[in-house]
This record gives sequence, structure tokens and C-alpha cells, in this order.
Amino acid sequence: MGSLAPRTEVGQDSGVTDISDNRPSPRAPGQARDVPLDAHLHTDLSPDSQVPMELYAAQAFERGIPEIALTDHLDFMPGAPAYEYADYPRRERMIRELQERWAGKVTIRFGVELTYETRYESEIRKHLASHRYDYILGTCHAMSDGPYARSRIASFVEGKTIAEAVAPYFAEVAGAIRSGFFDTIGHLDMVKLWLNPWFKATDFAAIPEAYEPLLAALVESGSALEVNSSGLRHPTGETYPGPWVVRRFHDLGGRRVTTGSDSHLPHCFAFGLEEACEIVAAAGFDRLTLQRAVDRGDLVLPERFHRKV
Ligand SMILES: [Zn+2]
Ligand SMILES: [Zn+2]
Repeated sequence: MGSLAPRTEVGQDSGVTDISDNRPSPRAPGQARDVPLDAHLHTDLSPDSQVPMELYAAQAFERGIPEIALTDHLDFMPGAPAYEYADYPRRERMIRELQERWAGKVTIRFGVELTYETRYESEIRKHLASHRYDYILGTCHAMSDGPYARSRIASFVEGKTIAEAVAPYFAEVAGAIRSGFFDTIGHLDMVKLWLNPWFKATDFAAIPEAYEPLLAALVESGSALEVNSSGLRHPTGETYPGPWVVRRFHDLGGRRVTTGSDSHLPHCFAFGLEEACEIVAAAGFDRLTLQRAVDRGDLVLPERFHRKV
């Protein structure tokens, strides 16, 4: 259990990736080919990745993936790993140059994975009012002073039901949805990862009532739901969120979904996206989306997924 101890802040992503990438999951998903999009990628402009952005563009071209979004971390809590980590003008310049180099081969979006916290909502609003991105992904993380921090999660969980244990995370996710800031809400239930030593994916499937208000708010907001495939290489063993949540989102009237590998390592690019697209198709969606309220025919899922629609 010790080696699976939850990480804090953005380190959680790369830390767990380091552990689990040495253990093939029973499903053994791999790096996808010929899917429309990988909309969640971390480059060396994130504190927990060393992947040069060029490498993602090259892999996308080689794998027949026509579009990618570079979504480096941005935190608002002073002292958090991605607080003032990558200078915006430098990021923008590097990505615009990359776009030019790959024009006609791979469409590259200047994205951001912005850590939403209710307490920093006014700072986030100010930032978004004065900085332009092609794609804004909103997520919630385990902050070092919050209940899911490695140093305090065990005592936080003790004596709690799963519904009580997820409540602080889902409350922040609800805030992210309500804020209206984001094209997409990413890894809706990554709390599964931190709580994995105590609660498994099947336990989460037994509390649909905890997801229901999030999904209803998401439908109302028009933001997209991300199917984040990093869970397929984590001990959790399923996407964030799992297939049943994506189906429920569709049934409630959700119309926009996207897929992302949340890669922090070269070999995690597009990892598990074949499975993510299958989940999307099985839930009843026929296409992916990127920017809010923009419907694009070129993000329709390839024909091999159609039978599941
Ligand atoms: Zn994240
Ligand atoms: Zn990420």
C-alpha cells in the first residue's frame, strides 16, 4: 500500500505513472492509432513532465492522430508546483512556432490544464480574462493543504463512508462546473486514484447519487466531459470517469465529450485512447469535441466505432 500512497498536487500524475507504467494492466491497452484527438498532454513546460512538445507532434503524425492539445499545468495556490511555473508568453510563442512547423500535418492547440479551487476563483477569472488559450481544461487536484494530501489522507478517510470521503473533491468539481470557465472538465473522479487503497472502482459505481448532481450541472453548463484514459495505466484500472458515468451523462442529455491520455511521458501519448473512444461510442456519442459550443464534423469517431453507437 505504501508504494501506492496518494501523491499531492500535480506530482500525483507523474508519480503514479512512474509506478504503474512498469506493470502492464490486465487489459493491456496501448498507444492508440487513428483516433481523432488527444486533448490532454503535458510537456516539459509542466513541472511533472520532461517531454519536449515536438515529440508529441511527431508521434501524432506517425500514429495518424490529426489533432492534439498541449495542456500544461497551471496552479493558483502559491507554492504549488505549477504556480507561476511556465511563463505564458514563452509557452504561447513555443506552441505557435510548433503549430507553424506542423501546419498541414497535425493541428496543435494551445491548451491549459487549470487547477480549479473555489478559494482562487477570482484569481482564475482574472487570469482567463487576460490570457487567451485555444482550449481550457478545468480539473481539481489533491492540494498539499487539502484532505487528499499524502500526509493526511489516511486520517481523513478513517471512519468515513465512500460518500463522505469523496465529498470534498466532488464539491470542488461542482464549483469548477458552476464557474463556467472551462471548455471541458477533466478527470471528473480522479479522487478514485487517491482513495484507491481504501475504495475500488466498484465502490464508486455503488454511489451513483454522488455523481448525479455533477453530471446534471455539466449538462446544464454546456462544458464537455473528458474521458481521461490515464486510469487505465493506474491501479484504479478504469478511465476517469468510468464507462457507466459517461453513459449516464449521455442519458441525462450531455452532448459533448472529449478524450485525453493525460500523458506525462513519451510512451503515454495517446495511451488508452482506443478504449476511451469505445467508451464514448458505447455511451451513445458519435463524435468528440474540443472548444465549447463548437461542433465539428472532423471529430466524428472513425467507422470502426460506429457499430457501438
Ligand atoms: Zn490533472
Ligand atoms: Zn493532466
